[in-house]
Amino acid sequence: MELNKIQTIAFDADDTLWVNEPIFTNTRLKFEEILKSHIDANSLEDELYQTERKNLEIFGYGIKGFMLSMIESAIELTKGAITGQEIQQIIDLGKEMLVHPVEILPGVRKTIKALKEDYNILIITKGDLFDQENKIARSGLAHHFKWIEIITEKDEATYYEVLHKHQIDISTFLMVGNSLKSDVLPVCNLGGRAVHIPFHDTWQHEHLTENDLVNQKYLELKNIDELVNILS
Ligand SMILES: [Mg+2]
Repeated sequence: MELNKIQTIAFDADDTLWVNEPIFTNTRLKFEEILKSHIDANSLEDELYQTERKNLEIFGYGIKGFMLSMIESAIELTKGAITGQEIQQIIDLGKEMLVHPVEILPGVRKTIKALKEDYNILIITKGDLFDQENKIARSGLAHHFKWIEIITEKDEATYYEVLHKHQIDISTFLMVGNSLKSDVLPVCNLGGRAVHIPFHDTWQHEHLTENDLVNQKYLELKNIDELVNILS
């Protein structure tokens, strides 16, 4: 992949710069524990996901929407038998997520510091504005980035808008992220470059089929550390 034209590198945030999905995974398990006194089920993950998916277009991405989806699923699955106290426990799970310490992934600090010497670096992340701003501030990384864009959906149209706004030529643009669906595909479709750094835990909503990936040109790296090498 031709990388010598690259001038701007954008990073996804969740599960690319810091840990995110494991916090959700852990909360889903605690949610199931709360419901276990009401219903007999091995896993409620799919039921919860269906509610989340249905609510995405109303709430958008983020923890607050996830909290409401947990409450809605709890009411549905227990046929209204969930108690006020248990709903409070679910709300508390969401609040814990919102103040969870930001855990920067290995190699991120070093890589960001090295790359900002030679490139314009930015963050493009989707989600709840308040929550994402808060996390970026608490990460202590914000000052390294030239721009930070928090968007509601990572699709071709939104990437196009962001690039246009900052007058970035797509042929000089590289996106780095853990999600093929959100970070890699839309950017490749626009003619940009992308680097995929898989994370061990991926939300169902970000899964793609093999078909979606046919003819896509992107690079896959194991660790963010490798970025500096492939760019030099
Ligand atoms: Mg991500």
